[in-house]
This record gives sequence, C-alpha cells and structure tokens, in this order.
Amino acid sequence: MSGVSRPDGIRRHNVALLLDSVHRHGPSTRAELTARLELNRSTIGVLVSDLCALGLVQETVPPRTARAPRAGRPSHVVAPRADGPYAVAVDVEVDRLTAAAVRVGGELVARRVERLPPSRRSAASVARAIARIVDRLAEDMPSAAWPVGVGVSIPGTVSLPEGIVEAAPNLEWSSEPLGQMLTDLLPPGTTVTLGNDADLGVLAEHLRGAARDAADVVYLNGKVGVGGGILVGGRPLSGMGGLAGEIGHTVFDPDGPPCRCGGSGCVENYIGEAALLRLAGRTDPPDAEAVSAVMRAARSGDPAACAGVVGVARSLGQVLANLVNLLNPQVIVLGGALADVLSLARTDITAALDRQAMGAARRMVQIRTSGLGSDSSLLGAAELAFRPLLADPSAVVASRAAPLLGAG
Ligand SMILES: [Zn+2]
Repeated sequence: MSGVSRPDGIRRHNVALLLDSVHRHGPSTRAELTARLELNRSTIGVLVSDLCALGLVQETVPPRTARAPRAGRPSHVVAPRADGPYAVAVDVEVDRLTAAAVRVGGELVARRVERLPPSRRSAASVARAIARIVDRLAEDMPSAAWPVGVGVSIPGTVSLPEGIVEAAPNLEWSSEPLGQMLTDLLPPGTTVTLGNDADLGVLAEHLRGAARDAADVVYLNGKVGVGGGILVGGRPLSGMGGLAGEIGHTVFDPDGPPCRCGGSGCVENYIGEAALLRLAGRTDPPDAEAVSAVMRAARSGDPAACAGVVGVARSLGQVLANLVNLLNPQVIVLGGALADVLSLARTDITAALDRQAMGAARRMVQIRTSGLGSDSSLLGAAELAFRPLLADPSAVVASRAAPLLGAG
C-alpha cells in the first residue's frame, strides 16, 4: 500500500472519485459531494478547485429559488463544463450508424445519424463512415470542447482488448480488426474502444436507466438480432475473451430453422424482429419501420399483429425463465422491440415465467422496459470512451497538454 500513501497519489485518486461522482449523479452541491465521498468540507473544496483548474468542471451559485429556497448562504453547484471534454459514442446497427457527443454527467449534446445501405456494410466501409461521422460531430461542439476518446457499440461479439469483431452475423462480419482500422483512420492519439451492444446496454441501464437499483441484471435487446448483456454482483459477465452473453444464439429448438450464426433454432429466430413480422403474417424486410407498423396495428387490436406479439411474448417468457433459473437476476431490462412486446403482452410473458421459472428466483425478479429507449448502447459506448478520464483525470489532461509543451 506504500504506493498510494504519497499525498500526491491520494489527491489524484480523490480528484478521480470526485469527477466520477459528478459523472454518475450530475451537477452536485459541495454539501452533496461531501456526504457522498465521506470527506471533510475543506478537502472537497481543494478537490473541486483541482477539477476546475483542470478545466473539467465549473462552480456556479444557483438562483436561490431553484435549489436553496431557505435563507442562508447558497451552496455552490459543481457541474461539468460545457466546453470541456466529451465522449464520442458510436452505435453501429445493421442499417445505420448513430454518433453522439456525450458530456461528463451523461448528457447527450449532439447526435448524427447515417444510413448504411447494403452495399456499404463491409467492415472497411463502416470504419470509413465512422471516421466521417465522428469528424462531422466535432462541428456541432463548442470549439474549445475536446473529445476524450471514441467508444463503439457493435451488434456482435468483440474480442477485448484488441477490438476484433469476432462475429457480427447480421452484418456478415467475421474476424474483422475494426479497432485497428479505426485507429488508422482517426486522428493520431485517439483512443478507440469497442464493445458488444448489449454489454454496453446493460452498463448504461445500470448507470442511468431502468436498473439503477440493481446489481444483478440481465439486459435483452431485440432488434434484427437479439443481444444479451449480464451484470453479476454489479460486474459485467464477460467470459474469458469478452464473448459471453450471446443469449440470442442459445438453442431454443434444435429442429428449428437455420440461423445466420451457423447454428439452428437459435432464440433470435423466435423473438427477434424477423420472427415478429413472420408471426404477424407480414412479408416486409425486418426494419424499424416494419416493426413499428406491427406494434401500432397490435395496439389498435389488429388480430394478425396481436398474434405476432403474443407469439413472441410466449417464447420470450420461456427464454426469460431460463435466464431466471440460470442467473437469479433482480431485474431483467427489455430493449428494442422486446420492450414493446412487454408493454403489449406482459401477461403472456409472465404466464410462461410462472410456469417455467423456479419459485424463489421467480418471485425476486422484476421485468422492466428500457429506461433509456433506443440510446442504451449508445450511452454505454460513451462510458467506454470516458473510462481513462474517470480513472485518472489529471493524467489525461496532462497528456493532452504534453504535445503543446513539446512544440513550445
Ligand atoms: Zn444463432
């Protein structure tokens, strides 16, 4: 422990804790920070000054009526700087890219979307599109604001830390070194981190969404594919190579139809968007518009659409029962089309759960819709980009300044 006993080390550590607290909880008064970090007021004052000097936060005195209605000295509010660092978050979906600038505190301040037609879905094309959209995003930000890194959400399995996309069946990618491609295309020194979309979704739902109160969480997202992200005791279940959680490719019926992963009868083929459209008697390609149309029709009582939703709900209930028996989660968060299925057919899901999940674990679990809507994976990608800054703000700011000092 001698390494952390140097005053300088402790102060840097506490500066990191303070920034992390503002990041998690948003603008906070000195009194709130003092209570949360269990440090004395004068220490908090010093640490806030350090963070202000680093250009990461600013202190303001709020209008008396807003936060401090009673008489006496108003407490200063510590908030992220608008012209400070931002994370560049990128969500790669099968038919589109979404890029966003996210400030410390999780506020999404700019967003750009680019469609990915079938002819431009190769890994190399997508890497070029990401580089372009990241560049354009900078135009939406104050000129003094600076990117801390790029986090990318991928609808497939990603080997960490190399950032190799091992398999993204719905993009037809296999063993694509996307992390390296992006490092080659983005400005020198840009930190690029990749993650699986559902792993990032569960991270964001735990930090800011529907699972803030839970440490044992499963997030299941239904799009073209079905992704799963799992937290056990507050920690991501990643497996040896970061490949765990492919709930969509567990076997539902071994005699079922072939799956794009190479297996057959995978869960994805029973609760994914294509399954919903098929069960609802539609022949449209499975995209967001077609899925919304089925949900709208089901809400207005259309029998075929309702049959599709109920069919998915019944299979989903069985999948959730397996997860409950395997993992004993406190909360299961459903995103994408599965969130709509929950709101339309909760009783069909819970009937399957009641039948298949074991008593005590069944009683403990709560099934919720995503708290962040379609932004779960995007906001999770921002968290990837923020990690180095939150771990050691002083070091990241110093490394930014270093090239300037060298040039001088
Ligand atoms: Zn599969």
